[in-house]
Amino acid sequence: MTYKKADITVIGGGHAGCEAALAAARMGFDTVLITMNLDTIAQMSCNPAIGGLAKGHLVREIDALGGEMAKVIDITGIQFRVLKRSKLPAVWAPRAQADRAAYRCEMKRRLEVQNRLTLYQGEVVSIIHEDGEVRGVGTSLGLEILSKKVIITSGTFMSGVIHVGLKNFPGGRAGEFPSVGLPKSLEDMGYEIRRFKTGTPPRVDGKTVDFSKTVRQEGDRIPQPFSFSTEKIDIEQIPCHLTGTNRKTHDILRSGLDRSPMYTGIIKGMGPRYCSSIEDKIMRFHDKESHQLFLEPEGRDTPELYVNGELFGTKGAGGGVIEAANGLRIGASGTIGEVFNGIIDDVGIFNEALSEDDIKDLYDKGLGMASGIAAVESSGKLATTWAVIKVR
Ligand SMILES: Cc1cc2nc3c(=O)[nH]c(=O)nc-3n(C[C@H](O)[C@H](O)[C@H](O)COP(=O)(O)OP(=O)(O)OC[C@H]3O[C@@H](n4cnc5c(N)ncnc54)[C@H](O)[C@@H]3O)c2cc1C
Repeated sequence: MTYKKADITVIGGGHAGCEAALAAARMGFDTVLITMNLDTIAQMSCNPAIGGLAKGHLVREIDALGGEMAKVIDITGIQFRVLKRSKLPAVWAPRAQADRAAYRCEMKRRLEVQNRLTLYQGEVVSIIHEDGEVRGVGTSLGLEILSKKVIITSGTFMSGVIHVGLKNFPGGRAGEFPSVGLPKSLEDMGYEIRRFKTGTPPRVDGKTVDFSKTVRQEGDRIPQPFSFSTEKIDIEQIPCHLTGTNRKTHDILRSGLDRSPMYTGIIKGMGPRYCSSIEDKIMRFHDKESHQLFLEPEGRDTPELYVNGELFGTKGAGGGVIEAANGLRIGASGTIGEVFNGIIDDVGIFNEALSEDDIKDLYDKGLGMASGIAAVESSGKLATTWAVIKVR
């Protein structure tokens, strides 16, 4: 049954999908954004931060092209810092810690008020194609959205598997279903899906942290906006805190490597880029007595902290590792990540695996796509540019 006809369909309401859908609608095309859960639009899968090294300038480029990411972080950021200030300006890297929930809600609101853009909650399980041309998508409820072009921005969800210690189960990202039908449909069309891995650390309850043992880290005295249209950031900034691992932390991790999915070979995927776990760091740099851990707030109104630098996957090490690090302890209320370990996702990512010929072939058929890792928003915009040129 046909649910809707559109010019362009975007699969996935992550960061790439939001920019792709807004760009298409703003250029005057009837656009449908279909995503598995409307309430996780623009959800930050891992660290709630925008920009940083080799990424901050891309956020500004997206802004220059009319995107939303920079504007949304300017009003939902809780700490703005320009990294590498001690070096020459070419390598300065603007970064902002985001209020995870506020960012998601603000981006969703902007999509909801956009003319020519329809948001639809559902799972795409097939690409409809005929005579070598894409005609739309099919959903798990048996509905069809017919369109001239389709842009896939499915992030880490394709046939995703989540590993927590030595346990594993299907999942797109923590608490969310994987996308299973879509990769199968792409494979039926002759494309290969390759597996990559990524990961996220256990979170810590800020109420259990002894901040007197940490070093307070403020944002920049005058926060620099990301967007060229934001004159000034005058919302209150929140500090992060710096602590570090110690010998005890390293001993716990070393003694548990046989229970780490990364070290036992359970995970088949490879890292799409160098994003090292704490286990990697202690094994590679034996003589280092401490590695830095940044305690970064997950939002303005939550005690939840992201522990940057602490990703680990060793089963049973969860509470012990956190407790052993300077200033962190498991309080009576427990930590959010206390009984769990870091989550390692083993995911299917589509276009990272494709050759140039494959990509050309996909575009020829009417399928655009954005990668599931770093700087995806830019590739989302690129895919839209292509789709719009073709539809015109
Ligand atoms: C645990 C973890 C840690 C990560 N760490 C990093 C990191 O350190 N650095 C980094 O750059 N990236 C990291 N990533 C990757 C991160 O997901 C991406 O950088 C970014 O979120 C990708 O944005 P996206 O828009 O491509 O996809 P996502 O943000 O993943 O969004 C994809 C969207 O597509 C929807 N979707 C998927 N399949 C379908 C379907 N068939 N039908 C309908 N909707 C569908 C999903 O519901 C979701 O809303 C991490 C991811 C995870 C899960």
